[in-house]
Amino acid sequence: MSRKKEEATALAEVPVDKPKSDPYASMLSRFYAAADVVGLTPEEKEILSRPAEIHIAYLPVAMDDGRVQVFESYRVIHSRALGPGKGGIRYAPEVNMREVMALAAWMTWKCAVVNIPYGGAKGGITCEPKKMSVGELERLTRAYTRAMSEVFGPDKDIPAPDMGTSAREMAWIVDEYSRLNKGNFIPAVVTGKPLELGGSKGRVEATGRGVTMVVLQALQRLGRRPEGLTAAVQGFGNVGSITAKYLSQNGIRVVAISDKSGGYYNENGILIHQAIQYRDSHGGILEGFKGGERITNEQLLTLPVDILVPAALEDQITPQNAPNIQAWLIAEGANGPTMAEADAILNQKGIVVIPDILANAGGVIVSYYEWVQNRRGHYYTETEVQERADNTIKQAFDDAFTRAAAQKVSLREAAYLIAVERVVKALRMHGKY
Ligand code: GLU
Repeated sequence: MSRKKEEATALAEVPVDKPKSDPYASMLSRFYAAADVVGLTPEEKEILSRPAEIHIAYLPVAMDDGRVQVFESYRVIHSRALGPGKGGIRYAPEVNMREVMALAAWMTWKCAVVNIPYGGAKGGITCEPKKMSVGELERLTRAYTRAMSEVFGPDKDIPAPDMGTSAREMAWIVDEYSRLNKGNFIPAVVTGKPLELGGSKGRVEATGRGVTMVVLQALQRLGRRPEGLTAAVQGFGNVGSITAKYLSQNGIRVVAISDKSGGYYNENGILIHQAIQYRDSHGGILEGFKGGERITNEQLLTLPVDILVPAALEDQITPQNAPNIQAWLIAEGANGPTMAEADAILNQKGIVVIPDILANAGGVIVSYYEWVQNRRGHYYTETEVQERADNTIKQAFDDAFTRAAAQKVSLREAAYLIAVERVVKALRMHGKY
């Protein structure tokens, strides 16, 4: 079967309507390209082009006003070839199953490319967390944990935070899951927990720190110094804000940041600690921030900067805006921020793109250390965690960089080649069934 036909078949068989933005299609086209080079059999391609399992639950939740609202929720396991399913849970109004399917597959490639012993999974609940009370969110999270109690497990599927969730939700999951297991405290069922419940030092900052590490590593390989370079960061959640903080601590001038409220530009550099403080005291949003002149999110992407960090949503860099991007280095803090159709344009322009599955893997790397610490009952210092995580992600970057040079492909293609190779090797060892 031709590649296009395979893609069309796999796409046609997924059980939901195709939304306008389709991150699953972007994931598939990169996977198929790597699969052809690695030499997967048609059967192997078929297995990995679909999720292994999709779980859907409708969760009735008692709202504060006395109504009962039913929420749609998912947990998708893409692959367990390299280990238990691993990946965050997203709470957002636009969450849909195809998005969660793409995010789950990206977790498979991400864990494989940084060589940690996990498969890929992702969860999502279609809800508006900013409009819900703490009590409503707790009841929703506990209902989700009950519905997925047979799916989750420290050796089966290990959730973590993602957009719209944090250590607070992870604490509720540990509590509910432990209750369901006769009260045995099972912290390793979830990562990204509060320190008091078995969380790891360094986990909150891990993704943004990792993005910074791969940027610094790329600069070193390209023979550039960070001092004096400029950056624009799209998204000011956990990943964007912490990346911006670390970039500026390393001498890179962050001239633009943005969130849902729009963008903020200051050619002298945004004071990141001020922006973080402002966000935290204004309901988690930058609206009204005075540290820069207003620009749109779209303008941010095409600013004349050295480094661009898309750390918001999927499908932000499109075939339409890619020709106007001026940065020469892109580090994908978000999952899937670049549409597959834009890859060729960025490559032609000579832009070095550190792909999502590598650039934002710092979070799941420290999640892995958290899980190891939970199982050993022994806890590392922050320095120990950071040193291990920095080395792991830098090594993964170097492997991809070397592979890209050797095979004359982009960093994204190299990262996919490494990941697909590792996953399929494990898949073959599992045997036929
Ligand atoms: N949600 C994060 C990601 O997309 C972290 C996942 C995890 O730690 O399991 O990589």
